[in-house]
Amino acid sequence: MQKDCNQVWQNCLDFIKDILPDKHIFETWFVPLKPLALQDDTLTLKVPSMFFCEWLEANYINELRAAIKKELGEGGKLIYSTVIDSSAVGADVKLPSNDRKATQNKSTTIPMNMDTDVKGFPNPFVIPGLKKIKVNSQLDENYSFDNFVEGACNRLARSAGYAVAQNPGKTAFNPLFIYGNVGLGKTHLVHAIGLETKQRYPDKTVLYISAEQFFQQYVDSVKNKTTNDFLQFYQMMIDVLIIDDIQFFANKQGTQDVFFQIFNGLHSAGKQLIITSDKSPAELSGLEQRVISRLKWGLSADLQVPDAPTRIEIIRRKLLKDGIDNVPEDVIEYLAYNVSTSVRELEGVLISLLFQSSINKSGITIELAKELIDKFVKSSSREMSIEYIQKVVCDYFSIPISLMLSKTRKGNVVAARHISMYLSRKHTQSSLATIGSKCGNKDHATVLHACKSVQNSYDTDKRFRADLDEIEKLINE
Ligand code: ADP
Ligand code: MG
Repeated sequence: MQKDCNQVWQNCLDFIKDILPDKHIFETWFVPLKPLALQDDTLTLKVPSMFFCEWLEANYINELRAAIKKELGEGGKLIYSTVIDSSAVGADVKLPSNDRKATQNKSTTIPMNMDTDVKGFPNPFVIPGLKKIKVNSQLDENYSFDNFVEGACNRLARSAGYAVAQNPGKTAFNPLFIYGNVGLGKTHLVHAIGLETKQRYPDKTVLYISAEQFFQQYVDSVKNKTTNDFLQFYQMMIDVLIIDDIQFFANKQGTQDVFFQIFNGLHSAGKQLIITSDKSPAELSGLEQRVISRLKWGLSADLQVPDAPTRIEIIRRKLLKDGIDNVPEDVIEYLAYNVSTSVRELEGVLISLLFQSSINKSGITIELAKELIDKFVKSSSREMSIEYIQKVVCDYFSIPISLMLSKTRKGNVVAARHISMYLSRKHTQSSLATIGSKCGNKDHATVLHACKSVQNSYDTDKRFRADLDEIEKLINE
């Protein structure tokens, strides 16, 4: 008997949902897939875009294969059908380039009351009748995808953002809601999405606006009795609307009302909304429930603090961009390991380091870096990181960190691993489970055992004690 494609796919989904580590991934990459047909042992799935398809193949092929095998047996096959929207002719993925013109919106003729102020930013008031206006996108070319370093901390948000730029308004990510603490790259990422959209669709009108600026425009429109123009402007002119730091709307009733209307208008017209906030929709306070529910319609993706290798890469990329090549490697690493709160803080220390060394006419050294970190970085963020401890320990034993994180049971590698765990326990607030997961995927019992064994050797073995004292001194330097 021929099986039903919906049922087969539903079973696959249940299976995949179970084996994926994260509900977000499931919702982002699997829920949007729709079964189209099942013929013999071949299941055809409708995929929203080429990009989507490539991403699935690159990242989740094993999960898909396992599910298909389970449902359809060894001979089971999968075919993707990409229904590409006619406006997205040619679904090739373009690389970002530095075409300055690309960020400018073309002028549009609109039958409403509009004018532009001196800076070219839309001032949706005055002059009745038909008027050509050009919306200043307010996009910053420095905040491109090229300059945005990818890491585990931002992978979902970045890839969803890239997908949105390839197909604005046409993906399941509408609105795309990006949240995270201050200085982790929200503003940068949404500019990158806007720039990439302009690159790919020069005719689309993109607008980046901070929530505060939006609020101000609305307040002015109330004062000038031009709120209708304000609403029309947003609903008729904009193809991709980016609103940054929406938490600013908290307890601002009127602004939330107009935002709600604009959101509905744009969304139902298939226009793209991209929103950022310092909190997830569920944690946003001071916002009306109906607004929050809209924010949850698409995809919410968060930005985390980047790990040490990503921080190193961010510093390198920044230096390269600015043409600076005299920062020693050990200073770059020192900064990356010791400034772990936000990218903004990391950049701040880097800039003051370059500045100080140029006015002192001194070299760029670890000592200077240390001094500046003590001066500028909030004390809370000076808490030692597990990664830093691992680095010091591995340097001490002259072994690569990757070896320590591997499963090797060689004597000095095991010692380094155990000492890292012990010192992480002693000098950080991290739980045993966290320490274990960062030290080669060990469980909490293993960490506890390591701590005991280190303490034991310390109490009984003189040479071991000397080593450990020396390492602790290096860590605390
Ligand atoms: P937020 O809006 O979340 O407060 P920003 O977007 O203003 O953070 O980022 C702060 C600084 O850090 C910016 O200069 C930005 O370019 C930089 N930055 C953040 N994340 C990255 C990244 N992944 N790669 C490169 N630079 C980054
Ligand atoms: Mg910001």
